[in-house]
Amino acid sequence: MNSVRTALTQGFFSMGSRLIRRQARRELAVLKWAERADPEELRARQETRLRALIHWAYDTVPYYRRIMDEAGVSPGDIRGIDDLPLLPILRRRDVRVHLESLVSERVHKRRFLPQVTGGTSAEPIRLCLDRRALPFERATQWHSLEWAGVLPSDPVLMLTLAGFRPQNRLSVWWNKVTGSTLMPLEILYARRPLPVVEMLERVAPTAILGMPSFLHLLAQAVLRSGRPLRARPRCVIYQAEQMEEDTRELIARAFGVPVFSRYGARELLGMVAETCGSGQWHLNAEGFIVEVVSGEPGDRRGTPAPHGRLVITDLRNHVMPFIRYEIGDVGAAVREEGCACGCTLPILGALEGRYWDWVVTAAGLTIPASVLQYKTTRLHGDLIWEYQFRQDRPEELEVAVVPVGDYGEDRQEELSRHLEALMGGGIAVRVTPVGHIPREPSGKRPVLKSTLHQGR
Ligand SMILES: [Zn+2]
Repeated sequence: MNSVRTALTQGFFSMGSRLIRRQARRELAVLKWAERADPEELRARQETRLRALIHWAYDTVPYYRRIMDEAGVSPGDIRGIDDLPLLPILRRRDVRVHLESLVSERVHKRRFLPQVTGGTSAEPIRLCLDRRALPFERATQWHSLEWAGVLPSDPVLMLTLAGFRPQNRLSVWWNKVTGSTLMPLEILYARRPLPVVEMLERVAPTAILGMPSFLHLLAQAVLRSGRPLRARPRCVIYQAEQMEEDTRELIARAFGVPVFSRYGARELLGMVAETCGSGQWHLNAEGFIVEVVSGEPGDRRGTPAPHGRLVITDLRNHVMPFIRYEIGDVGAAVREEGCACGCTLPILGALEGRYWDWVVTAAGLTIPASVLQYKTTRLHGDLIWEYQFRQDRPEELEVAVVPVGDYGEDRQEELSRHLEALMGGGIAVRVTPVGHIPREPSGKRPVLKSTLHQGR
């Protein structure tokens, strides 16, 4: 069996051009080496890449030349990570406004990899990634699967939208060979437990991969089917959204297997961080520098802080460099200490999701949506499939609820009363039962849709 597995694994690498295949394999080997490398050596490699990127950006990207001249900073002033606060932060709105001047003048168009971010509460932005970083991106994808104990030849059940189905024949063929498949979301949306469980047992996946909001529905279906699951996956992997405690609990009850996660963004090519078996977020030092900085969202100045905004430098994109990019997430400072898993890569203290996942009350309070989620599931977790908060005005919050069965006015009032009390009054909560909650074009289902944080 092992030789079959090895052959299949090699088969995976035969996808794509021969050049990409060779480079991706090399990148994967380096990523594995980096897991146990001397932290000082890793940092030195990051800083070498950083200095090259800063010089490149100053010499060939009009936007960076201008902002560095305005700030009185020369490329030679940025000798390492600690010097990064000398540079202003790049905001989403800067990318939107200065799109053309952010592209390097010295790169051929063939290297452009156009991209549009999905955008949840925020407006989508257009940008350009670097085609040369594709092998690296592929390597980080597979590295994160390996960390969860999944081989390229293992069957994976992917929960995704129709638009994200593999287009090229090789990927389709590869899925067929490994038995990997996509669960049509219509099955999840129908909220009928039996077809979900039957498909799980037919595919018998080693891993289930998806966004937390889909995994939430999947786990609900398994639990509501009322029958023991014969084909238990070895792990669950999530990405693209934060996993809240209620979803984590559901997955634990439905599958009882370890949950891994990986963190990336459309603006960046490759996974920025992955969780290890000890549940820590290890940063991908070969591709990125992550700073946690002070200041309000949208503030162009930011110095290191124990807790704050995540600001990311992509060391691989030379087409449209993202230097000190404010990604929109909040977290706790990076630590360069060892982890119980034995990996020496730096650790991100915590990853707490988007700062627009906050409800704002008329009294000026900001309340994380996760607090409201906690209350909602504690109170009515057994009565609802899923829900979403929506806010357009500080004095009102709407909760769209997809009920399991009867969800009458008394229930609606009970939930709204509890949520209003939780927020200290001054805000009216309106609960509305709905048939389903529409996804964003990206496939995400943000827990809070708010128009009060736009323009950052
Ligand atoms: Zn670890």
